[in-house]
Amino acid sequence: MIQTMNDKEIWFVTGSQHLYGPETLEQVAKNSQTIVEGFNASSHIPVNIVYKPTVKTPDEITDVCQEASADKNCIGIITWMHTFSPAKMWIKGLSILNKPLCHLHTQFNAEVPWKSIDMDFMNLNQSAHGDREFGHMMTRMRKNRKIIVGHWEVERIQEKIGNWTRVALGWNEFQNLKVARIGDNMREVSVTDGDKVEAQLRFGFSVNGYDSSDVTSHINELSDQQVSELIKTYESEYELADALLESGSKRQSLIDAAKIELGLRSFLEEGGFGAFTDTFENLGELKQLPGIATQRLMADGYGFGGEGDWKTSALLRAMKVMATGIEGGTSFMEDYTYHFTPQKAYVMGSHMLEICPSIADKKPTCEVHPLGIGGKEDPVRLVFNSPPGRAINVSLVDLGNRFRLIVNEVEAVVPMGELPKLPVARVLWDAKPDLEIAATAWILAGGAHHTVYSQALTTEFIEDFAEMAGVELVVIDKDTTIRQFKELLHANEAYYHTFQNYM
Ligand code: MN
Repeated sequence: MIQTMNDKEIWFVTGSQHLYGPETLEQVAKNSQTIVEGFNASSHIPVNIVYKPTVKTPDEITDVCQEASADKNCIGIITWMHTFSPAKMWIKGLSILNKPLCHLHTQFNAEVPWKSIDMDFMNLNQSAHGDREFGHMMTRMRKNRKIIVGHWEVERIQEKIGNWTRVALGWNEFQNLKVARIGDNMREVSVTDGDKVEAQLRFGFSVNGYDSSDVTSHINELSDQQVSELIKTYESEYELADALLESGSKRQSLIDAAKIELGLRSFLEEGGFGAFTDTFENLGELKQLPGIATQRLMADGYGFGGEGDWKTSALLRAMKVMATGIEGGTSFMEDYTYHFTPQKAYVMGSHMLEICPSIADKKPTCEVHPLGIGGKEDPVRLVFNSPPGRAINVSLVDLGNRFRLIVNEVEAVVPMGELPKLPVARVLWDAKPDLEIAATAWILAGGAHHTVYSQALTTEFIEDFAEMAGVELVVIDKDTTIRQFKELLHANEAYYHTFQNYM
């Protein structure tokens, strides 16, 4: 499902001017090509970096910005001022550019060549001040961009560039994403609802409503062979509970679950959807709330939000794209229940069924149990724990006049008990800085109970993503204090009241 990144490009644009003569400009071009070759050879950078000829005049700058904006495969540009490139030349181009921009503040040579440095060298290597002139213009234009400072050959710098290109992939995904809402919102629920028109204006993705009958029509067309093949896959990939085995009392539930997966998959493929929602209150003719189906679709890269939660569904899809090639899973999540001890408090994250097996610690078990709500047949689901380690929880909420992204950094831990009677996948985590502050800040920020939980991504990805979207981001981490967090929320009310520009 995750589309290949082979056709996506980031353009590398070097700025200069004609002041220095052709010899210097020739060297500028050569050096830029060397840097691009270095980036394309780096294992840290997943997107193809495309060298563009040095821009030296306002017209050349405008042209490249126009081309980048119109090119379907170009998902962003990296700019670097090898020499001085007077920034008034960039005004027209930057005002046209509608793709993410990363300002790489680097220098071709790492160190000053003490013995040989002369005025020719000084003419050629001016990024220390050339990039500041360029940066001033972007600040003057209030242009959101990523700034990466350091020598281009350093691994940490290449990693930062690579991660920014992943975020650009996620942003590009938002521009093309179609979210299918199968059924509406869970009745009376607030945070999962919101302004779908404003979301499309701000983020690019579209959200449209469908009925469970749109899925059942696909189920009705399935062949027995398709169903039995998927059952074989279930048997080989998971530990099946006794009741679901061929001779088991609940075998029919497994067959129904497989049909739901195949029907749902076919519906999503036919419509070109990358994300979807459902809700236990609008299941129509579907026999079970999709459990294993949704879990496996998430594992294949689809976004999902429970109870009609289209914002979390879209965000999950974008975050799965951003996480491409990085170790660790990314899943739909919900803060479910707490573990308060005299020493420390933890959150147990889970959902009724729909946790993505990409975060499983080992081969999941496949089980069937009653759901307790919704009045349908018992749904089949994958049950597992998630390994300990660093992760983030991310929420996207609609505040009425704007969207807000909220990140909480967490540390997953091994559950203190076996949980033999809990029939859902789950994660136990220590919320930073501690649950008291984290939950207070989260609630103050209006964060949802639904989140995207990612072991693969760090806060910096979401920071870059928020910049690309031009939306507010608040981070709850080891340094958060409630007093400062409240001040931040107050300041942001004023800031986002003043600046609400689209990219
Ligand atoms: Mn929920």
